[in-house]
Amino acid sequence: MASPTRSRLTEVPVTWSSSRPDPFALSVEDGPAPLVDTYGRVHRDLRISVTDRCNFRCVYCMPKEVFGRDYAFLERRELLTLEELARVVGIFAGLGVRTVRITGGEPLVRRNVEHLVELLAAIDTPDQEPLELALTTNGSLLAQKAETLAAAGLSRVTVSLDSLDDESFRAMNDVDFPVQRVLEGIDAAAAAGLPVKVNAVVKRGANDADLLPLAEHFRGSGHVLRFIEYMDVGVTNGWRLEDVVSADEIVRHISERWPLEPVASQRPDATARRWRYLDGAGEIGVVASITQPFCGGCSRARLSAEGRLYTCLFAARGHDLRAPLRLGASDEELVEQLRSIWTRRTDRYSELRTEETAALPKVEMSYIGG
Ligand code: SAM
Repeated sequence: MASPTRSRLTEVPVTWSSSRPDPFALSVEDGPAPLVDTYGRVHRDLRISVTDRCNFRCVYCMPKEVFGRDYAFLERRELLTLEELARVVGIFAGLGVRTVRITGGEPLVRRNVEHLVELLAAIDTPDQEPLELALTTNGSLLAQKAETLAAAGLSRVTVSLDSLDDESFRAMNDVDFPVQRVLEGIDAAAAAGLPVKVNAVVKRGANDADLLPLAEHFRGSGHVLRFIEYMDVGVTNGWRLEDVVSADEIVRHISERWPLEPVASQRPDATARRWRYLDGAGEIGVVASITQPFCGGCSRARLSAEGRLYTCLFAARGHDLRAPLRLGASDEELVEQLRSIWTRRTDRYSELRTEETAALPKVEMSYIGG
């Protein structure tokens, strides 16, 4: 497999009107005016990190050398409480957010996360439809929690799984966690009625040999497998362009074994491009933030576990919502704050990524949430 070329990272003028969402197509029926930013992007999705802690030390995300015994994780009192989270989500829902993804860190290590799901599932939305509640997890605790999460109102789950080979899986999570337990978690989620997606980050030299086994395992399973290009999130993972396996390479490689065709109807705000197996065994997705950036359709904001709001995964700074929340701000004041953050939004980091910006300080993914 060849490396993506360096010229992808040079600053190029980007025209992304084709991938830009139509605010009217995405508008909230019978609700308040949607939040629209300076590029016409509508705020629809919120990701909430419920903890910055994780029981894995994936080498590309929370390398042990940095996130070791002495690492200063957030204190309990610094985290938004479940009730504070539910209040913020309720306000976002009133402003047109439709999908909330619970993430981390590892969200299932947050005590009582099932109760948070219950609180979010009970939120009133302007169109009376319940929020779509997704959760991203490393799957290690899913076998124990899947049923309770489903009963609490979770809509679906995304499980991160980078290899089926036990040895390389243990090496990637770097805490010697066996792959079998994650597979049991996936089965438990499916048995609890939760639709499952599986995310595999592909890092050259680490797990690029796992593409075909992963594809083979999930073909025809009913679970959608998505490959994610290794990204320059944060600053601690020592990211190098040479380590990225491009979406084109991934699709080509799998298609040589099981021919694929692009799925025609792609959502403008989707992160993954969808491909379907010609033999009818389902589909895969590729998330190509490095080689085919999708800032033009970005409908997402992220809330860190301590209540800082980020409008870009690659941002360096977020907006503090915890202080106003704890100082007694009214819902109207919070609405105004959120409106002013989103409507002034100008970020499109991935479209403008250069080797220089890739090296600049950025928030860690374990802090802001995947
Ligand atoms: N602990 C949960 C999990 O493992 O899914 C949620 C948090 S984790 C930060 C969310 C997702 O981000 C995972 O799928 C992980 O593989 C992905 N991720 C972390 N670092 C990444 C990187 N440098 N490039 C691409 N994806 C990354």
